Amino acid sequence: MNRDQDSSTARALAAAGDLDSARDVGALDRAAKAVDRKLGASRAGLVERLIYGPPPAAAELQSGAVMANTVAGSERAVVDAALGCLARSEAFTADGRLSDALRRTVAAERAYGYTVTAELGGAAASYGELAAVEEALAANGLGPLAVEISGQLTIGAGSLLAYGDDYQQRTFLPLVVEGRPMAFGLTEVGVGVNAKKIQAYVEEQTDGSYRLFAEGAANKLWITNAVHGGLIGIVARVGKDGPSIGLFVLELPNADVPTGAGQDYEFRCEPSGVAAFVANFNSRLHFRNFPLPKRNRIPADGVEVLFYCLRMGRCMLAAMAAGYQRMLARDASHYAIRRLGVGGPVIRHELPRLNLGRILGGALQARALAYLSLQQDADGVDLAGLRDLTKSAAAGAGVESMLAAEHVLGGRSFHGGSRVNDARVNLHLFGVVEGEDDLILMGMVRDITQRFVEGYLAALLSVIQSVNVAPDGGKLPEQQRLLRIGLASLLHHPRRSVTAFARLLAQPKFWSLCGWVARNGARDVVSLPLRLLPSAAFARYRVLPAALRPYARFAERKLRMLRWSYLGVSLFFQLELTRAQIPLQRFGKCVEHLVSMLAICHHAALGDQSMREVAALQAQLLKDKYRAIRIVSDLVALQRTRRMTAAVGASIEAGRCSLIDDVAPQAFGHDWEPNAADRNPSR
Ligand SMILES: Cc1cc2nc3c(=O)[nH]c(=O)nc-3n(C[C@H](O)[C@H](O)[C@H](O)COP(=O)(O)OP(=O)(O)OC[C@H]3O[C@@H](n4cnc5c(N)ncnc54)[C@H](O)[C@@H]3O)c2cc1C
Repeated sequence: MNRDQDSSTARALAAAGDLDSARDVGALDRAAKAVDRKLGASRAGLVERLIYGPPPAAAELQSGAVMANTVAGSERAVVDAALGCLARSEAFTADGRLSDALRRTVAAERAYGYTVTAELGGAAASYGELAAVEEALAANGLGPLAVEISGQLTIGAGSLLAYGDDYQQRTFLPLVVEGRPMAFGLTEVGVGVNAKKIQAYVEEQTDGSYRLFAEGAANKLWITNAVHGGLIGIVARVGKDGPSIGLFVLELPNADVPTGAGQDYEFRCEPSGVAAFVANFNSRLHFRNFPLPKRNRIPADGVEVLFYCLRMGRCMLAAMAAGYQRMLARDASHYAIRRLGVGGPVIRHELPRLNLGRILGGALQARALAYLSLQQDADGVDLAGLRDLTKSAAAGAGVESMLAAEHVLGGRSFHGGSRVNDARVNLHLFGVVEGEDDLILMGMVRDITQRFVEGYLAALLSVIQSVNVAPDGGKLPEQQRLLRIGLASLLHHPRRSVTAFARLLAQPKFWSLCGWVARNGARDVVSLPLRLLPSAAFARYRVLPAALRPYARFAERKLRMLRWSYLGVSLFFQLELTRAQIPLQRFGKCVEHLVSMLAICHHAALGDQSMREVAALQAQLLKDKYRAIRIVSDLVALQRTRRMTAAVGASIEAGRCSLIDDVAPQAFGHDWEPNAADRNPSR
């Protein structure tokens, strides 16, 4: 797959004067590109094909449902064992954490080594089968166990399975199978989403071994599954300030090692104090001069490994979100049937029914996307685009379902100890972990449009770049730089604008773009009369139940129209699009809603009547959401919103926002500033 646009995005950012972002995005793109090379996908991504063609066959769109039906039931051994523990009240400790008894029980079913090969003692299950376990655990009140196993097998052992050498796999994977928790440690006190900026580092010793330093703001933070005696893949720079980022696998000591304890190193593993994933291990880790054998270095870039593992992590998160929402729907409907509201049982009224439908629809959406992504990955299709919207849609639906459940269950949804109440923070967290939803949606837009941008728009961007060069060959000062060529630039900078137009006309790629517009425009006009035909006239919609056909057709048509929206947005914003996050995020949301509609219709086509009813309602709700988003059709309002956003942001940044300037901010937990008073990680 050609991902050269990643560097062209960085180039565009640099041309727009945003050098910091250009550097950061360029570094992250290189890691993503390396993952693409490793995966060696044989087909372009599904989302890109839905927009730019050729359209995927109906069978491909239903392949996720086939997988879901095939793996259904395979989860029983693990889930029944876990539910047995729950029924005996042995699953959680008195303070609400996962119990050792539960861990031992599911470890005996090889749950912690579910996707590890049989040769190393694992269950050799597929990721589809793992998704079935994840969904069923979360649906039955064992979401925290699902979180633990997902972390263990995606970003934890997933790194060893994909990148570990023979020694590392044979040494550590049998421990993983036994149930030794395995974590992945990238995030630091001082570094979050900008993964390439981590500060933890190793120093190479003369014998080839390493010493690890992760002190103060370089402490690893919020590391799920990190516990004394557990395993971890830890990401650290090779050499202080060195350019390369390594990954090291190690067994964490069984206890803290303080200064002066007879060792020449320090180690601490303390609870991170986070109020989500509260039933799980979640830690802050400190290392000083910590010894790492040479053979524990995994031969890969740490950020690349993270990106590789995140694709499965995002699918598992969606499976968990499906399970959590099924649990919410079960408990909320049970309540609504029994509880008398104004004028009869709550279930009889339209709004509670809508809320219940919303929750079920969210569950179906998350499940349909999770399995579609997993099957695409198994089929060697590039997962760019789909993996991101799967995660964003599943996390977003999870939060909406939580709100819907609260409106049905009323006060009892906040009852301490109820599984609905316990789910709240985790469902909220799903929007932030494994990539924050809005950031990954913007990444998705770049991924699915990169071929089009490289093929047709790069010339336009390079022309604008060329008129921002000073006579001495350097860059013009920021205030003189042109980001858009149009009427306004023609009035204020006529000479440079005319030069840009002239250079554009001389670019062969400009004429390729004109050809693309003519071809695609003609095709759309010619196919216009086909819209008069009913959906049943098309073989690709006849595979769907009649009630779902119009939704699938609508989604496909609108997805194809999005190629015009992207062109419109690109021509309007030009180089400024590197900064215009609001239109990019909105475009991403449109894609998310439409692909979700399509996935739901095809998934439910292989389900029973009740599932089809849920699918029809959810498809309608998604259609409503899609219609509420205006991008190209209301650029004036969009620009107004951007200007207002800029003004509010600037007043906040300058510290002159009267609504908050008399309110003192609270000190952060885990402050990262050099002389921060807060050194207590559990606060
Ligand atoms: C319970 C929990 C478990 C976790 N488990 C792990 C784990 O096992 N291993 C691990 O390594 N990490 C883990 N994390 C870390 C998690 O992945 C990070 O919280 C996440 O990467 C975000 O980092 P941050 O919170 O420091 O946010 P920051 O990096 O400080 O970002 C703050 C916000 O700014 C936004 N933002 C930043 N830059 C831009 C931009 N250019 N444009 C628009 N918005 C921007 C971000 O999207 C984010 O919403 C966990 C976190 C939690 C809370």
